[in-house]
Amino acid sequence: MGNTRERFLIANWKMHKTVGESRAFAREVVRRIKGTTLRNQLMICPTAPSLWAVGQELSGSQVSLGAQNLDLGREGAFTGATSGYLLHEAGAKWVIVGHSERRQYFAEGDDLIGQKVAQAWESHLRPIVCVGESLGEYQEARTISVITRQIEALFSKATEEALRTIIVAYEPIWAIGTGEVPQPSQANNVAALIRKILAQKIPDDADNIPVLYGGSVSPKNIHQFLNEPHIDGALVGGASLQVEELLKMADISS
Ligand code: PEP
Repeated sequence: MGNTRERFLIANWKMHKTVGESRAFAREVVRRIKGTTLRNQLMICPTAPSLWAVGQELSGSQVSLGAQNLDLGREGAFTGATSGYLLHEAGAKWVIVGHSERRQYFAEGDDLIGQKVAQAWESHLRPIVCVGESLGEYQEARTISVITRQIEALFSKATEEALRTIIVAYEPIWAIGTGEVPQPSQANNVAALIRKILAQKIPDDADNIPVLYGGSVSPKNIHQFLNEPHIDGALVGGASLQVEELLKMADISS
């Protein structure tokens, strides 16, 4: 602790929940936190079809709205695509970029992810940039080189202005949805490394960039990660799908 960085608890719902379920969940969260002050800024990232409805429920509350992905461009003949401009118009203030599932199942590479960060910024969305190594890379002790490559790749596509607005989420791919987690001290070292690499490009601002941990976080283990000095919150998938669990995690200080 001892820093003034913003702290976050981000719910990534992936491809879960209908519009009706998403709306009801958001309404319940807002009802439950009314009059309280959460220790971590809570953000919900629903599916694209539910964005508008969830945004309506969250309006005026302390919970913010994020999207899970954006496509490049603003408007045009790109069937099936959703631009940052349209996401912002639908109520999103944030967007997840470079999630490992996008890298793995949608063949998104470092270059495209850098472009998406730039595009998010141009669309008035703050990017939540995910980085992380695969199991094989972890076993070969390549975590540092993979993370360095992924962060440095942003430098050629995104401006300093855009980089100043990001959150980074360190998500070891082998920990996502598996129940496996790294030692909190290992995750802390990677978070420190991320800030050090960012300092090459934005030396005066790197210390203010929130770096989160993600990968099988739950109410049972979140304390361990939030206790680490370089970890400023968590990006949570599976455990964010239940109101009770989400609220427990949002209210934890360390
Ligand atoms: C994620 O979706 O980014 C994630 C970390 O998922 P889970 O919490 O389910 O591992």
